[in-house]
Amino acid sequence: MNILHILSQNFNHGSRTRRPEDAVPYPKDFRGRLLHNTNLCTACGTCVYACSPGAITIDTSEGNVANWDYTEDRCTFCGFCVQYCPTHALSFEQVSPKPINERVEHYLFHEIELQPCRQCGKPVQMIPLETLEQLYGHPLPAEIAETQGLCENCRQQLISKRFLNALVVKGDRKDD
Ligand code: SF4
Ligand code: SF4
Repeated sequence: MNILHILSQNFNHGSRTRRPEDAVPYPKDFRGRLLHNTNLCTACGTCVYACSPGAITIDTSEGNVANWDYTEDRCTFCGFCVQYCPTHALSFEQVSPKPINERVEHYLFHEIELQPCRQCGKPVQMIPLETLEQLYGHPLPAEIAETQGLCENCRQQLISKRFLNALVVKGDRKDD
């Protein structure tokens, strides 16, 4: 196709506006706007640790609530928070963020309700059942179900107790 043919084609078909179906699809791992699923978030703080520009903060000073906040203006869309979130509570929307000078402020302010540990009463966000089942299968094995509703300290104590019991039983068997 020579240049004259292209020019005549351009003159003949008139002006054309790009239609929505002409848009190039976003690639699978496109990092658009950040989404935060509060049902999956355990307020563990990994995303805060992973975020070097400080776009995510968690405030637990209120006691029974963790305030999870995100400020897009600080975000570099590096994706570390999504990559390291253990419960997959974070993801990227397939939508382009606006250029910084046109950006409508995008903040997320989410309250994560904490519940008292069923043993010591310390307010904690429990690991969602959905996440536990993804890790351990459905129904949950008895030893995992037993740790549900416990804070990390009480969980550790329970696991240490089990370990000690197992050692004692093993020791008794040796003596027989
Ligand atoms: S979003 Fe993920 S990494 Fe961040 S606090 Fe919630 S569970 Fe932890
Ligand atoms: S994408 Fe990167 S900069 Fe943006 S909130 Fe996540 S860790 Fe922070």
